[in-house]
Amino acid sequence: MSTLRLEIVTPERKVYEQDVNMVVVHGVGGQLGILPHHVPLVTPLKIAPVKAKKDNSEEFIAVHGGFMEVRKDKVVILAETAELGADIDVARAQQAKDRAEHRLSSKQDEIDHKRAELALQRAVTRIQTSGR
Ligand code: ATP
Repeated sequence: MSTLRLEIVTPERKVYEQDVNMVVVHGVGGQLGILPHHVPLVTPLKIAPVKAKKDNSEEFIAVHGGFMEVRKDKVVILAETAELGADIDVARAQQAKDRAEHRLSSKQDEIDHKRAELALQRAVTRIQTSGR
């Protein structure tokens, strides 16, 4: 089965680098499945788990926004933060989720509301990714 190289990079480190058969991401325009030899593409990503399929296994990586660039036989995801499922502290994510929900339920200005919504999305993405 043909493969493509998937790299997930943050300003701090390379989170993931593997040859995989398929990458599934949540682009801002919807879900995208990338196979080897996909046409070149650049898209912003939503805060969501990224799925990497390899042979008969699947891996999930929590990717908190950023961009995906599809090149010939290579997919590069650049994000401010990203974590492998095994590196996620679920208790910390649950606390972040509770804090964000609490903030969203109280009266706030627009900027704080948006910030809490993004924190909630990051926490939910971490919880979803760690359970897979
Ligand atoms: P918190 O409020 O718990 O700090 P956050 O969403 O504000 O969460 P970020 O600013 O996105 O955190 O991330 C800061 C750093 O901490 C990044 O390196 C990120 O990978 C890491 N990080 C955040 N939450 C977790 C978690 N639950 N498990 C593992 N690493 C985490």
